[in-house]
Amino acid sequence: MKTIYFTDSEADLEKAAELIKKGKLVAFPTETVYGLGADALNEAAVKNVYKAKGRPCDNPMIVHISHFDDLKLLAEEIPEDASVLADRFWPGPLTMIMNKKPAVPKVTTGGLDTVAVRMPSDKVALKLIEKSGCAIAAPSANLSGKPSPTKWEHASKDLDGRIEGIIRGGDCQVGIESTVLDLTGEIPTILRPGIVTASELSEVLGKPVEMDRSLFAKIELKEPCYGEGSEAEDEDRDGGETEKASGMGPKSPGMKYKHYAPKGQMVIFQGDRAKVDLAVKERRQKAEAEGLQVKVIFFDDSREAARGFFKQLRDADDEGAELILAYALEENEVGFSVMNRMLKSAGYNVVQL
Ligand code: AMP
Ligand code: MG
Repeated sequence: MKTIYFTDSEADLEKAAELIKKGKLVAFPTETVYGLGADALNEAAVKNVYKAKGRPCDNPMIVHISHFDDLKLLAEEIPEDASVLADRFWPGPLTMIMNKKPAVPKVTTGGLDTVAVRMPSDKVALKLIEKSGCAIAAPSANLSGKPSPTKWEHASKDLDGRIEGIIRGGDCQVGIESTVLDLTGEIPTILRPGIVTASELSEVLGKPVEMDRSLFAKIELKEPCYGEGSEAEDEDRDGGETEKASGMGPKSPGMKYKHYAPKGQMVIFQGDRAKVDLAVKERRQKAEAEGLQVKVIFFDDSREAARGFFKQLRDADDEGAELILAYALEENEVGFSVMNRMLKSAGYNVVQL
């Protein structure tokens, strides 16, 4: 298939929106990461998203809307907490999970009775949703298992020839995926940490917000399976349910898959800064003496880390890095959210100092 490239002009966005309306797939910018969009209520279109990404079929998608009222088409009932949080954080990088309406196909929700919804703040994303007249289901616009795309070039590298359109928008300013908050239980619970933190949510709601406890556990990450209806997919689904029943697995299906992995081996160094500096230096010298291509990843602050981390991983691949040495971030607030991704990229390979 030939992928059409669009600018973010009004005329081009009209054309891209036409594709979405017709059940085709278009990658588009959001403030978090690039999304791979399809009409969320069109089963066939959503199935093609799983296919194009090689995404396991039990990994549900986030549905993107441009008006709060569109939530009524998707959620059976809008919890009071959702209205309060939308008022403060929408449009923005917060996804909320609610019970779904029957109109939302199960393929969009990975077989679940709940739906994840977000209103992005990126102007291009909002215009695309608006012009298409659809709620747009959009996972990140990367092949499953690869780092999420924060530039259109990343989406192009993974999906050119596999999808109908790519919008060449700007670079993503948040850089990590949205905070996913489950509102279907008694206590609002974060299933995936992001730039909107538990303390901010809790402050706005005036009550506690929990973190899914699997976020603190080392999860045995599964390989995402490529292709539709494979046996591997069925196994993954069974595995997920067993984990859930035992209370060990993440409630957010996507969190159990191998993700964000660069091609090279990755090691995180955590602990006393002077010791980390020394250990990274020594490891680098040793590896380079063995002829290995080494990349060091270091960030001054957690916001900058969120914005730049996935790009650094993709740059590492492009540079042919065989060994990636990463400085851990302090695991508080946004730093915790970036570390959640970093630990997965490195397969939990951490040197404690
Ligand atoms: P991505 O589309 O790559 O940003 O991933 C979306 C994330 O949201 C995945 O981790 C999903 O597991 C999670 N998610 C989407 N819908 C639901 C839902 N209904 N219940 C729990 N997690 C969800
Ligand atoms: Mg993703």
